[in-house]
Amino acid sequence: MTNGMHEVAVMSSILEAVREELRKHHVLKVEEVLLVVGEMTFLGADQLNFAFEVLTKGTDLEGSSLFIEKEEVEVSCPSCQYRGQAAYHEDEMYHSHIPTLNCPVCGKRVEIIKGKSCMVRSIKVVEDDVQA
Ligand SMILES: [Zn+2]
Repeated sequence: MTNGMHEVAVMSSILEAVREELRKHHVLKVEEVLLVVGEMTFLGADQLNFAFEVLTKGTDLEGSSLFIEKEEVEVSCPSCQYRGQAAYHEDEMYHSHIPTLNCPVCGKRVEIIKGKSCMVRSIKVVEDDVQA
């Protein structure tokens, strides 16, 4: 179980990045923030949504919506040159699939090339009429 503290920390730096972006434009209001969250970050969507709500309350971003898109893990194998989806390990306790670091083809250790990061893909805003 996670108490969501990690998500709060992650969300707080995401919001900083969003505001950084907003400063470059004449933005009246932010409508949507689309986040891409890699499977390997183990960040919970519910916790992220909760953190977003808490952290934007009473700020310039209050009332905007958060959308989360999950990014699957993609791996690359230095031994057999396999590149693609990771092998999954079934976790009986949590009833979930967890990506493993073993190559689905040869079983050797792979490198993760996708699915490790959490980033803002797009921000939908209402812009000021004044064109810069
Ligand atoms: Zn391999």
